[in-house]
Amino acid sequence: MIVVTGATGQLGRLVVEQLLEKVPADQLAVVVRNAEKAADLAARGVDVRTADYSAPESLDGAFRAGERVLLISGSEVGQRLPQHTAVVEAAKAAGVALLAYTSVLGGDEADFQLAAEHQATEKIIRDSGLPYTLLRNGWYDENYTAQLPTYLGLGAIAAAAGDGRVASAPRADYAAAAVAVLTGEGHEGQAYELSGDTAWSFAELAAEISAQSGKAVAYAPQSPEEMRGILLGAGLPEPLADILVDVDLAIARGLLARQNGDLARLIGRPTTPIGDTIRAALAAL
Ligand code: NAP
Repeated sequence: MIVVTGATGQLGRLVVEQLLEKVPADQLAVVVRNAEKAADLAARGVDVRTADYSAPESLDGAFRAGERVLLISGSEVGQRLPQHTAVVEAAKAAGVALLAYTSVLGGDEADFQLAAEHQATEKIIRDSGLPYTLLRNGWYDENYTAQLPTYLGLGAIAAAAGDGRVASAPRADYAAAAVAVLTGEGHEGQAYELSGDTAWSFAELAAEISAQSGKAVAYAPQSPEEMRGILLGAGLPEPLADILVDVDLAIARGLLARQNGDLARLIGRPTTPIGDTIRAALAAL
């Protein structure tokens, strides 16, 4: 049995759909905090189990001995270490056969704020003694394509990333990597550095959006203070604005441009170019 947590999220949905192309529904379970959101999966024969990362007792019985589990990292920044710890403890108590975890590109070398909870989770997983696979995901294309309306409206992409590059890939590619690990053999003890085959700069991102949309969009580099002001002005809470500026500075230092080909190797094809993700996102506007 393969079990996917966070299955009603954006990455989780893609993992489940891709798994259903490879394994029968009765070989698949999902762990979700809101079973209603997974009613369609239950109707297709997937075993829907309800548990909340924040309520350790709810995780009793979420996993069974011998199952291969994908823990999709939670979305509540600042809460994730106790949440992930509870999931790892439940997986250990159940005696799962494999625990795969969606971590951060670079692992311990990622020195930006968002990475800290992933690094601490990786340690807990390694220390648990469970067979594990670390899926160190780089940035999603969608972090940027979701902002296309803003970019097109302003004619500008503001970032404090300097000339830094981003080796991003669409969520679907990272989902395919998770599926390869969950359905394949020989991934125990591995830490995969997952990133796109092409690392783009913000100037190149702007040029691609301009070319495809026919509207002029330029990269507008900002200082960290200016970028923080833009994000606060857009209504983001201070802690989130600080985290996003910190990510931009990590990009400027090259931390999200790391490439070693692991993603393409795991999925058995080149990664999807960001131009394709932009095309699909523009078509959906
Ligand atoms: P998402 O759409 O926000 O999905 C997060 C999933 O986690 C959802 O299914 C959510 O459940 C579930 N979840 C959150 N808190 C939970 C809790 N307390 N108990 C049980 N389930 C909980 O995010 P995504 O785009 O799929 O990305 C997956 C993860 O990657 C994120 O959570 C975050 O850790 C990380 N991330 C990575 C990048 C990147 O660029 N690599 C960008 C953003 C986030 P519901 O469906 O009930 O909300």
